[in-house]
Amino acid sequence: MSAAQPTVLVVEDEASQREVLSYNLEAEGFRVAMAENGEEALLLVAEETPDLVVLDWMLPNVSGIEVCRRLKSRSETRAIPVIMLSARTEEVDRVRGLETGADDYVVKPFSVVELMARVRAQLRRTRPATMGERLEYLDILLDAETHKVTRADAPLKLGPTEFRLLSTFMEKPGRVWSREQLLDRVWGRDIYVDTRTVDVHIGRLRKALCQHGGEDPLRTVRGAGYALG
Ligand code: CA
Repeated sequence: MSAAQPTVLVVEDEASQREVLSYNLEAEGFRVAMAENGEEALLLVAEETPDLVVLDWMLPNVSGIEVCRRLKSRSETRAIPVIMLSARTEEVDRVRGLETGADDYVVKPFSVVELMARVRAQLRRTRPATMGERLEYLDILLDAETHKVTRADAPLKLGPTEFRLLSTFMEKPGRVWSREQLLDRVWGRDIYVDTRTVDVHIGRLRKALCQHGGEDPLRTVRGAGYALG
């Protein structure tokens, strides 16, 4: 699977539910990580830095609500969208679910089609490049569906790695990415690549972005990494 694909963490204690969820999420092209309980979920969030969490309400020991509350109270994990699953349908529970900071809420038994639509909706917001959206930064346009990039309407030639790098930068202009973060996001965390490789591809991306002229939009942040703008 492409390293740029979003990772979805499924937290559910029932094996049959986990299977249904992982099967369908993988069919959508996502990388799936799974946790059987709240403690494991919190560990995996730190290890896998998922792009979205599908979180069951009813879990042994640390409940889904508590997991959600913890994720939303930490700056490093606050931005990760959480979709809560619950068999409880009472309005008060629904409200409590949202008060914990959950981004969406699906009642069990759920329709897989509906849940996948909600997963995609959250990821279109947070990982637009992986969901085939068009991204824009100043005069640079990136179409994630057709893999075409233009600058001031002129098409740019980019290698696949440079394309994934640019997608990452354009999802969050201004954000400073460390070389390690770029390696995880662009090359994948299971592959060993020297951090100097990042510099090489940044160099190529800079060249590609300026192939028809224009200023270099990439910024080197000393001791920290790189940012767009
Ligand atoms: Ca459960």
